Amino acid sequence: MDDHTNDGFRTDRRTLLKTLAGGAAGAALLGPVVARAATERPSQPPPATPDEALAALKAGNKRFVDHEPQVRSTEEIEDIWTSISGGQAPFASVLGCADSRLAPELIFDQFFGDLFVVREAGNIADSPTNLGSLEFGQAVLGSKLILVLGHSSCGAVKAALEGATPGGNIQSIVDAIKPGIAGAKTLEEATVANVHAVEDRIRAKSPLLKAAEDAGKIKIVGGVYTIATGTVTFFD
Ligand SMILES: [Zn+2]
Repeated sequence: MDDHTNDGFRTDRRTLLKTLAGGAAGAALLGPVVARAATERPSQPPPATPDEALAALKAGNKRFVDHEPQVRSTEEIEDIWTSISGGQAPFASVLGCADSRLAPELIFDQFFGDLFVVREAGNIADSPTNLGSLEFGQAVLGSKLILVLGHSSCGAVKAALEGATPGGNIQSIVDAIKPGIAGAKTLEEATVANVHAVEDRIRAKSPLLKAAEDAGKIKIVGGVYTIATGTVTFFD
């Protein structure tokens, strides 16, 4: 790909960004729950602390639930695009389930460059690779929060709760969830227990992230997304 082609690609993508995020009609394309025109808001500085990062996710989810997504001006989108073309500094990491109904950027009303997202069925932290991704998000990119995000009607947690034996590589997901949900009687209880177990597992299996949390550089918190309402319940 030569420079000219590359420039053309970038121009096309910038145009698409403006179309998607620049107005109420574009905002309607971003999610099924966006039902009316959104209010344009002045840009805010990025969260600088773990508590500010958590507050930003809570505020973003409220905007999503209230059907009032943040709409960026053309100038703001240009600034964001220029910024993320040169590097990234996501303010929060989300370890979410791979479920197609859970899309962190949408349900927290965030934009390109805001979130470092790691997804795996059952939102588990059992492999060196996904733990390594979370470590990269904190140590290299400066993420100030790790949110372990479970959700309602999670098939992976349900399979573990019911003692399913799907075999193949899917079995490793069920096996990773089972110990953390021991004693849970309902899917709701198991979903919450799994989130807390994964929070603890991150601390136990990642000395880097445990040290960062102890030093106040990051917070590790849990939450559950309710698909039917769009609401995230935070455990903090
Ligand atoms: Zn799930």
